[in-house]
Amino acid sequence: MARFIGCRPKSLPSARIITAAQRAVTINPANSPSGQRLNGLGLAPTQLKLAIATEKYWGKKGTRLTVGFLEHAAPALAKKIIQHLNAWGKSANILFRASQTDPQVRIAFRDHPPSDAGFWSYVGTDILEIAPHEPTMNLEGFTVNTPDKEFHRVVRHEAGHTLGFEHEHMRRQIVARIDRAKAIAFYRRDQGWDEQAVDAQVLTPLEDSSIMGTPNADETSIMCYDIPGEITLDGKPIVGGNDINATDFAFAGLKYPKPKKKPKGKKPKPKKPKGKSAKGTNRKKKSG
Ligand SMILES: [Zn+2]
Repeated sequence: MARFIGCRPKSLPSARIITAAQRAVTINPANSPSGQRLNGLGLAPTQLKLAIATEKYWGKKGTRLTVGFLEHAAPALAKKIIQHLNAWGKSANILFRASQTDPQVRIAFRDHPPSDAGFWSYVGTDILEIAPHEPTMNLEGFTVNTPDKEFHRVVRHEAGHTLGFEHEHMRRQIVARIDRAKAIAFYRRDQGWDEQAVDAQVLTPLEDSSIMGTPNADETSIMCYDIPGEITLDGKPIVGGNDINATDFAFAGLKYPKPKKKPKGKKPKPKKPKGKSAKGTNRKKKSG
């Protein structure tokens, strides 16, 4: 059986964090740190702290992102990945589409070096800070033969990061349930992470306002890790999400609301003789 790979969202090198935050606010002024995120910075927030607290959403108007592959991807694989990226489009005004010209989302399938291996994506507008020959997302080892459930669990999760969503398991309520020493030992063994990586990926709570927007942590969010009971204080696992759930869809719809359809049929239509449609068009009935 293939080893279980957890996701590590990629952070920018520290030299780029401030320019990336400025870009995020230019693209979407609502990304400016506010409320609880600012409270978490202490009394004298530095420019760097402010930059770290900046969100990376693409804005209420939604987003259209082009997608390319840095390594060979069979057309069937490329198509399937893009379909799963677009799963969020059910509730959100987003679209990923294939392009070979300067794609904004660049997908690789690397298993080395260790810093590139695994499943990860840069978060939201940060992808625009990445050099054009570098990946913004990695799906280690994905092929057309990868089980469907992994496309649901992994590709949709990484798409969530690209849309600016962070890890639900980083919420205070969940972090508070984890046994620090056991977590460090577990992830060293399971993922090869050092203490610093475990701190960053699992043990440092994000500010409460930042994540899926629900009052309580959502353990079955697609953005929540599966955390084994052996590293929680109460011995109960945090189940994690295997697919976009109703809360995730609702949150994505809040962040990227679909344009409202103009109300139809308010005005009384002038009566037409039966059997002929207006202007002679022959419209098909919509199904569903
Ligand atoms: Zn992740």
